[in-house]
Amino acid sequence: MPERVFNFYAGPATLPYEVIQKASKGAVNFQNLGMSIMEISHRSAPFDTMFKEARKDMLDLMGLSCDEYRVLFLGGGASTQFCSVPFNFLKEGTTADYVVTGGWSKKAVKEAKFFGNVHIAASSEDTNFNYIPENYDLTPQAAYVHTTSNNTLVGTQIKNFPVTGDIPLVCDMSSDFLSRELDFNKFSLIYAGAQKNIGPSGVTAVVIRRSWADQARKEVPTMLAYNTHIAKDSLFNTPPSFPVYIVGLVLKWIKEQGGLKAVEKANVRKAGLLYSYIDDSGNYYNSTVTDAASRSLMNVTFRLPSEELEKKFVGEGAEAGLMGLKGHRSVGGCRASIYNAMPYEGVEELVNFMKRFRTAN
Ligand SMILES: *Cc1c(COP(=O)(O)O)cnc(C)c1O
Repeated sequence: MPERVFNFYAGPATLPYEVIQKASKGAVNFQNLGMSIMEISHRSAPFDTMFKEARKDMLDLMGLSCDEYRVLFLGGGASTQFCSVPFNFLKEGTTADYVVTGGWSKKAVKEAKFFGNVHIAASSEDTNFNYIPENYDLTPQAAYVHTTSNNTLVGTQIKNFPVTGDIPLVCDMSSDFLSRELDFNKFSLIYAGAQKNIGPSGVTAVVIRRSWADQARKEVPTMLAYNTHIAKDSLFNTPPSFPVYIVGLVLKWIKEQGGLKAVEKANVRKAGLLYSYIDDSGNYYNSTVTDAASRSLMNVTFRLPSEELEKKFVGEGAEAGLMGLKGHRSVGGCRASIYNAMPYEGVEELVNFMKRFRTAN
């Protein structure tokens, strides 16, 4: 194997190589302090500077003001947010709207039902989630509307979010966070497990509107209450310090690329190359998302003529240094995750391999 392969895993996933190299230095000797970033107190000045910068860089990239929004770095994965959101904001007897566009949204619904009423505002489950619904049936007085921006397993992505007016809009952005420009001001709460697009596993970013947090339920266990973490600037307890450090490096890398506008442009170009080859392959490769407007720029899902060929494709891909092309078991087939850190050359190599494979098989 070469030192670096092209890694198409869905998560944990590829990171910018510059970030890995920098992080490996910080892992040994952080800022020449003679200590690893893993060894220093989260109450020390060097850590505090790094931590504050990461939180500020995130808001800057999103075009959000630090008066209105807070960034929290929490443990427990995006899966814990499935429960924290309703625990804080779905009071007994009230209703939350959920847009169900994949397996992750379904898991979010399951948790919400422990706390209050759930209304499914739209769902594409009838066709195994292979499109994003266009119409949303919103509840007038809903506690909030929950969405999943990118559906990692099925390869779809919301382009037009529901217009909710005064009703808080919540979004699980785990698999496309900071991959494109969005009007982030319309969201009251965004959460993302870092391990898809902005870092390693072990930390979840939460961006929350302070004025909404003020309205949260008071009877919430300390660690699950957003206000606990807001009050202590995300240092109520020991944060996942090493993962946050790497997220901080990724945020600086995104800034160096030219911010979200530039990464979006690169992502559109990469996805365009791959989808157009799939669509032009004479039905040898078939996108599982036939509605082109619903297709994800991050997770490209496709099938080959038989399961046997799919297995061979994944195996020979790995031998050629193209790792992680197996689709999720709920969908089958193949999936290429092409997050921010996947270079254009990686997608070119993939397409070249797909051409060779098709000719040979
Ligand atoms: C991976 C993923 C999750 C789960 O994240 P964990 O950090 O493993 O809990 C939730 N939502 C989406 C959209 C995901 O892609």
